Amino acid sequence: MSATTESKRHLSSDEGQLGPLPKKTKFSQDASGNWKKSDKDEEEFRNYENSDRQSVVERHYRTMRQNQTVEFVQRMQKKYMPFTNAKLTIWEAFQELKTYVDSSDPDTELPNLEHMLQTAEAIREQGHPDWFQLVGLLHDMGKIMFLWGSPEDGQEGTADGCQWSLGGDTWVVGCKIPDTNVFPEFNKLNPDMKNPKYNTEMGIYREGQGMDNLMFAWGHDEYMYQMLVHNKSTIPKEGLAMIRFHSCYPWHKHDEYQQFMTKEDEEMKEWVREFNQFDLYTKSEKRPNVKELWPYYQALIDKYCPGKLSW
Ligand code: FE
Ligand code: FE
Repeated sequence: MSATTESKRHLSSDEGQLGPLPKKTKFSQDASGNWKKSDKDEEEFRNYENSDRQSVVERHYRTMRQNQTVEFVQRMQKKYMPFTNAKLTIWEAFQELKTYVDSSDPDTELPNLEHMLQTAEAIREQGHPDWFQLVGLLHDMGKIMFLWGSPEDGQEGTADGCQWSLGGDTWVVGCKIPDTNVFPEFNKLNPDMKNPKYNTEMGIYREGQGMDNLMFAWGHDEYMYQMLVHNKSTIPKEGLAMIRFHSCYPWHKHDEYQQFMTKEDEEMKEWVREFNQFDLYTKSEKRPNVKELWPYYQALIDKYCPGKLSW
């Protein structure tokens, strides 16, 4: 049975009413749990025009654009980058994340743990290296900030909460927001775009400065990347780039920010693109068996980011 034929029902985040599950999957699992590509169109994912979650998604991006400024990002760095909120193993952090539901994503309403396992399993199925699989498992864990965040800062963990500094497509703050960004009509609502210091092509940066040296709209990507670096994870730089940049669609999908890129950034972008297809197209409603799968992933965690980590 393919995941797309299931007819479970889910909570529609908008009105809190029951509606049919979205039948969208690019990869799907057969009866023995193997991943295979399905024949669903790519266009059915990242539908920002008429998905059944449209009003939530639109509000998310409007608020995100209004609030994510250089000043805001600096405040979040100050708040989170000492990493003194908790000491948790990856497993313990997953337990905390169980109740988190994404409100910005038009493709799925499953708890994020299941999305991360689906992503990891699809990467594993394709025969990619172990660190790549682990990246699949960890890539969205930064949403754990909802535990320490506030509604005013866009860090609520509920399906209809404010999550504009947890998730959603990111961009580089401190320079002009590109028109290829999702909902470009909201770009003008960003206060930095009225500031001549920030609203130019180069903004506060120098040519060829490197993607590593830019500031991004604050969210789960940036936090998780910084957290893994802080805890001296041995995940290779390609994997860390996947985590840090996977939501920066203007860069990895629309080739923006050429002015800042180095040769190595070109390579990193290919890795991020490779990762991205798994992130995007494995959002089926078939629920992975956490208990069965966990021992395999615990071994990868022990190899690349063992023990209690500082969050
Ligand atoms: Fe993500
Ligand atoms: Fe994801």
